[in-house]
Amino acid sequence: MKDFEYIQPETLEAAATLLGEQNQRDWLGAKTRAFGGGQDLLGEMKAGLEEPERLVNLKWIEGLAGLAELGSGNVQLGATTKLRDLETEFDGGPLAAISAAAKTVASPQVRTNATLAGNLCQRPRCLYYRRPEAVCYKKGGDECFAYGGNNKYNAILGGGPSFIVHPSDLAPALIALDATIEYQGAGGTTEVDLDAFYTLPSEGDVTRENVLSPGDVVTALRTGLESPAEWRSTYVKFQERDAFDFALAAVALSLRVVGGQITDARLVLGGVAPRPWRCREAEKALVGSLDGADLEDRISAVAEAALIGSEPLEHNAYKVPLTKGLIGRAIRQLARS
Ligand SMILES: Cc1cc2nc3c(=O)[nH]c(=O)nc-3n(C[C@H](O)[C@H](O)[C@H](O)COP(=O)(O)OP(=O)(O)OC[C@H]3O[C@@H](n4cnc5c(N)ncnc54)[C@H](O)[C@@H]3O)c2cc1C
Repeated sequence: MKDFEYIQPETLEAAATLLGEQNQRDWLGAKTRAFGGGQDLLGEMKAGLEEPERLVNLKWIEGLAGLAELGSGNVQLGATTKLRDLETEFDGGPLAAISAAAKTVASPQVRTNATLAGNLCQRPRCLYYRRPEAVCYKKGGDECFAYGGNNKYNAILGGGPSFIVHPSDLAPALIALDATIEYQGAGGTTEVDLDAFYTLPSEGDVTRENVLSPGDVVTALRTGLESPAEWRSTYVKFQERDAFDFALAAVALSLRVVGGQITDARLVLGGVAPRPWRCREAEKALVGSLDGADLEDRISAVAEAALIGSEPLEHNAYKVPLTKGLIGRAIRQLARS
């Protein structure tokens, strides 16, 4: 690993200045990195994928960690809140998807160090991206080695030219709760829907997965459900190993239930596309009675609608039935709750 400068500022202003002054607009040339818990960044540095000259640790900045009620039943989650602190906080309530997702991330050791913003901004786990010698699209090359190679873990939706999948468990869960993300940088403070924060490889900069510019600091997430008390939510994930693993496929689901009727829904897939994949047609198909028999009739239509446009690669067609099964599991779980 190359030598680097390590700074722990105590204010957001100082962090923004430190992150802004050495950075260029181009990510591949950026020399400074925000440091949350280091659970992804240090791995990238050890592998030689990232060689920053300066790390700016955000952990001593007052006000960046912790949860706050927003009055209506929605919450604000500070960027440096540890995943461990989200594991049980929302169990059983409308925002249960947050805790359900947090519990599935890695191991207790990783969750004790990992921050929410770091989880949302972590880089892809594609086998080829993680190999320094494979100069793929993500590293400024002009090839996706997974496309014709080992693509068991890669995208079946929204892929091309790069076929990475988005690795965060918290991102689909928060999008299913209509969350916004706030960040600060040279352009001042910006707040956007978390769904609009993520980009496809075919949009914008193929080397990146979101709209952040070098030097931007994520400061907070806010859930944004209308009348949260009427909602229920969950997160269901399938992983290859029980111990800890990234999602082969995952489903974040929230339902607004009024008088025994599903009146609104959010369905977001993880592990199958280069970004969390919102399924708007499937959400529409969910609207209707919550009654068991009626709902069973709609589940396969919802699952079909969610996978519209899927184009499996040579080794990952299994993700289609797997994802459909998880969608049914998530719907039935919420119908019973
Ligand atoms: C063994 C193992 C298993 C794992 N399994 C899973 C899993 O099942 N599910 C899952 O979701 N994740 C998993 N992960 C990934 C892990 O959750 C992430 O690495 C972790 O959440 C990153 O958080 P961090 O605070 O350590 O981020 P860091 O490693 O510090 O940073 C990650 C990235 O985010 C940027 N960043 C951090 N904070 C900010 C900020 N405030 N503003 C702007 N940019 C920022 C950094 O510059 C860096 O690019 C696993 C990791 C390991 C090591």
